[in-house]
Amino acid sequence: MSRQVPGVRGVRALLPAEAHAWTAVESCARGLFAAYGYQEVRLPLLEHTELYARAVGEVTDIVEKEMYTFVDRNGDSLSLRPEGTAGCVRAGIEAGVFHNQTQRFWYQGPMFRHERPQKGRYRQFHQLGVEAYGMAGPDIEAEMILLGERLWRRLGVKAHLLINSLGTAACRSAYREALVAYLEAHAADLDEDARRRLARNPLRVLDSKNPALEGLLGAAPKLADYWSDEAAAHFGGLTDRLDDAGVRYTVTPRLVRGLDYYTHTVFEWVSDALGAQATVCAGGRYDGLVEELGGAATPAVGFALGLERLVTLVTQWPREAPLDVFVITEPPARRRALALAERLRERDYKVEVYLGSAGLKSQIKRAQGSGARLAVYAHAEDIELPGAGGSQERAGWNEAAAAIAARLENRGMNG
Ligand code: ATP
Ligand code: MG
Repeated sequence: MSRQVPGVRGVRALLPAEAHAWTAVESCARGLFAAYGYQEVRLPLLEHTELYARAVGEVTDIVEKEMYTFVDRNGDSLSLRPEGTAGCVRAGIEAGVFHNQTQRFWYQGPMFRHERPQKGRYRQFHQLGVEAYGMAGPDIEAEMILLGERLWRRLGVKAHLLINSLGTAACRSAYREALVAYLEAHAADLDEDARRRLARNPLRVLDSKNPALEGLLGAAPKLADYWSDEAAAHFGGLTDRLDDAGVRYTVTPRLVRGLDYYTHTVFEWVSDALGAQATVCAGGRYDGLVEELGGAATPAVGFALGLERLVTLVTQWPREAPLDVFVITEPPARRRALALAERLRERDYKVEVYLGSAGLKSQIKRAQGSGARLAVYAHAEDIELPGAGGSQERAGWNEAAAAIAARLENRGMNG
């Protein structure tokens, strides 16, 4: 035997059992996105590295150390997408779909980050995301959060919503100054990671997961004390709408998105069931990004959820239509079995024909395991074969298909 080539670390394949579960979750989400007026966009996996440097920010974990970046044959620096928002904004600006319009987009697919692989953290992982453009008030944020809640409810997922506001750009920079002054005064008590963030992206220090910093960060200046009237009104508008809908949330003063273009609302859903990687979905308002990437100023909000993490939380699996017919057959009857199966598919039934080398007994077991509503045995003498493809033969297949269809319909009616 020759040597096996291993898969890439942190990059997983999904074989049918898992892929099936993912598809069920994705189609549930797809249905809800449509129910809220979101339209699908398919975005490229490759972008110019500069896009992420500008959109995600130079001073972020993603750009500093997580991107898969390479120089292509033309000497251009390209990166595999580490997230979806930047590419969505870039594509929307190029197509001119933001100006004076409202848009609701959703996307899905793999993202790539060179992180240390562990439970809930992979190098190729998958996100479902929504982005809404041209809507400045808290209504769209509330609507988006309700969409998330509804998805959790449909899937039987328990997650808790954390919300906060960064305020306007002016609030943010006033807060940032106060935070830097506070952290510098306590620099000796910070860990190395926090000191590094303090110098380059101070809001991110609040994200620290080091329990030793808990007290120090708990006593840090609070964003809410720096909100302008406008910022407070915006956030109040959001909490009013969430209260109207009976959505529970925790206002979390230290919840920040460390990127410069975020303003106003930020939110995350967390779950106790995920271990150290507790966040299943994260989002917020990013009114500054479209302009930062060369478009006209456009209000924007979005969230992205991690499918790997979501799938582990699902307790209520959306029911998918089962296989209708499993055709048991042996080699001499295969030609007939294929023809019969095509007749059934013509009538929109889902059909699997057994084409392996197992005997009848074991095929019956497989038919039972397949979840099919009906098992059909196609044997060689089943249908008259007056001549290959003859009209009588075709009539025989149609008759057999009609008989099977009738059985399926009767079963359907009797439950
Ligand atoms: P974290 O704090 O877990 O690193 P993040 O802030 O880097 O999260 P986002 O960029 O906000 O994550 O991505 C949104 C969601 O995508 C996360 O909440 C998570 O569910 C998922 N996600 C992010 N990175 C990974 C990864 N490496 N592997 C699996 N899922 C991920
Ligand atoms: Mg991360």
